[in-house]
Amino acid sequence: MTQPPEKPALQKPSLKVLLCSPRGFCAGVVRAIESVERALEIYGAPVYVRHEIVHNRYVVEGLRKKGAIFVEELHEVPDGDAPVIFSAHGVSRSVPEEAARRNLFTLDATCPLVTKVHREAEIHFRRGREIVLIGHAGHPEVVGTMGQLPAGAISLIETLAGAEKFVPRDENNLAYVTQTTLSVNDTAAIVERLKARFPGIAGPHKDDICYATTNRQEAVKRVAPIVDALIVVGAPNSSNSQRLKEVAERAGCPHAALVQRAADIDWVQFGAIARLGITAGASAPEVLVEEIMDAFAARYALSVETVSAAEEGVFFPLPRPLRESQAAE
Ligand code: SF4
Repeated sequence: MTQPPEKPALQKPSLKVLLCSPRGFCAGVVRAIESVERALEIYGAPVYVRHEIVHNRYVVEGLRKKGAIFVEELHEVPDGDAPVIFSAHGVSRSVPEEAARRNLFTLDATCPLVTKVHREAEIHFRRGREIVLIGHAGHPEVVGTMGQLPAGAISLIETLAGAEKFVPRDENNLAYVTQTTLSVNDTAAIVERLKARFPGIAGPHKDDICYATTNRQEAVKRVAPIVDALIVVGAPNSSNSQRLKEVAERAGCPHAALVQRAADIDWVQFGAIARLGITAGASAPEVLVEEIMDAFAARYALSVETVSAAEEGVFFPLPRPLRESQAAE
């Protein structure tokens, strides 16, 4: 009797994954998360955190399970000696002032690169300059930076059109600072316009965009033009993640998607692709990149290559009270 021909094994389609490097956590995010974890270890739960410590639901939920309580404003924190941590995005002056009035025990997890922008703005103000902040209205970092100085001291410019229209009080006495997580290219265009209109404007060498934002965007610029689609692992309220998606689109990627978890992937959009880029915003943990890679590996035969735009070795020590108690152990 003749045997039926063997059924060919179902083959997964091949998919080349280009993994952007660097991606994911930056030094400011690591410091902020470790600040909450360390405070929980030293002082016990609850530890209050003003605003999401970093813009990532997975991270926030993990810390909540360990005993962190997230609030938006200080009035939600009861009087007492439980620590209150300020998020990596920074806070307006009025926040530590209110905390001091109420005798709250505060720990500042503001990223040192955001604090640096606060100090720059203060120096310009002391020198009598009108300050322009290039950034996005409503982002907590922008609220915190504008809140370093009296109302009216800083004007916000969000776009090139805004730079075109801006009317200073005295164009010979101007300065600019920027949000740390902006698009490098958009910001360069805005700065160029301001410098063309106001040649004497004072400011940083180029902008205040941080090393992590710059490097993640650079890696995406290399990968985006040579893939069929690119996933940014990150949250919709994460400024640097949103910028990575925009950078990918502008660099020619036909489909860029911001994805928080594997369950959010719209598989219809990723049907017939042969090359996929993956990166992660500065607040997205690597475990979520792995989860998304595993989801693709279940549907495709993956081959993975890393595309590196920079090496990073930046480290920020924990806020002083947390460091001191570490040293005392
Ligand atoms: S993205 Fe940049 S500014 Fe923001 S926390 Fe990270 S290193 Fe600091």
